[in-house]
Amino acid sequence: MDELLAFECPRCRAQVQARFYGPCANCHDQLRRTQGSDAREVAVADYEPKMNVTPNAVATKD
Ligand SMILES: [Zn+2]
Repeated sequence: MDELLAFECPRCRAQVQARFYGPCANCHDQLRRTQGSDAREVAVADYEPKMNVTPNAVATKD
């Protein structure tokens, strides 16, 4: 339960420790604040560029 992953933040490359891989606290806060604004596209594209491209193609492959 207390295990933390040590990794680089995918957005700012800061060394962070968290229970799940993802943006650090600062980036997470920025992502939340920029939701719904013009910056959202940039943040999402930078975070997971491939996940949102062709979800159907992946889902229908099996
Ligand atoms: Zn970060």
